[in-house]
Amino acid sequence: MYQAKKHSGLALYAPSMSAGGYKRLIEEGELRHAIEEGLLTVSYQPQVDPNTGEWRTLEALARWRHPKRGMVPPAHFVPLAEQTDLIGALGEFILRRACADMAAWRACYGIDLAISVNFSARQFSGTDMVSQITRILGETNLPCHALEMEMTESTLASSLDNLPTAMRRLRELGVRIAVDDFGTGYSSLAYLRRFPVDAIKVDQSFVSGAGKNTTDNALVRAAVEMAHALNLQAIAEGVETESQNTFLQEIGCDLLQGYFFSQPLTAEQVELHLSQRRQQQAA
Ligand code: C2E
Ligand code: MG
Ligand code: MG
Ligand code: MG
Repeated sequence: MYQAKKHSGLALYAPSMSAGGYKRLIEEGELRHAIEEGLLTVSYQPQVDPNTGEWRTLEALARWRHPKRGMVPPAHFVPLAEQTDLIGALGEFILRRACADMAAWRACYGIDLAISVNFSARQFSGTDMVSQITRILGETNLPCHALEMEMTESTLASSLDNLPTAMRRLRELGVRIAVDDFGTGYSSLAYLRRFPVDAIKVDQSFVSGAGKNTTDNALVRAAVEMAHALNLQAIAEGVETESQNTFLQEIGCDLLQGYFFSQPLTAEQVELHLSQRRQQQAA
């Protein structure tokens, strides 16, 4: 057995390792390098108020532009980070960048916009996330109520001992919690009793049939009604068409997100939108 040098630290390379395993090891090193060097970026996708079209929240989405392979989708590198020890550093980097950007936009444009950040279960294992999050909010000067945490049903249903206490503590501080990809997890709805949730995000797989498929219409309507019965906000993700938009508005969905309104935007594009909006208001 000999050692293959990675960007930081040493990785053990066994000659018996498969080609796939070797590729993965290389990629893990590249991702580690990208995180350490601050080469990841964040895209922002608005969640809009269906009645006014105003932006209410921006979801932070991690982006990795690989020097040779171009854009690597988060559906690929987030699971890679979760399977290694990289998710902690990745999550912390994205959170800090997203909070710093949002704090700057709130101050510069005088707007009450919130930032929504995705969290993995693995970020909570062995880390005091309450301290990490409060430290970052303090350092970036972002008020607690301007941060929303997106967690999937599977994350909330995971058996991490410290998760319910950490989430309750964060909620007490004013941080909001949204259930991401609602309806796709294998879990029961029991987590809605264990966790102090503020919003559910109806998964795009249901939203895509909304306005045309009767089963999807019924499921989306039921999810929105359940949210409202529990005093939660209902957010639809993956809204792509006029008919989906019309249906979601009719059933009283609180916030809508998707290509119909906007693709995920770079920070520069967000700034352009906010400054144009300010000019329109001043005119
Ligand atoms: P998600 O949190 O459910 O994010 C929504 C995904 O849907 C994003 O994909 C977004 O670009 C995409 N999307 C938005 N509107 C539409 C639409 O109208 N149609 C379609 N077809 N897609 C739309 P993206 O950016 O590729 O992210 C994929 C997933 O990766 C996210 O799903 C989230 O689970 C994960 N992810 C992204 N950034 C982070 C991060 O910083 N941390 C963690 N833990 N996970 C992240
Ligand atoms: Mg999300
Ligand atoms: Mg989602
Ligand atoms: Mg999703």
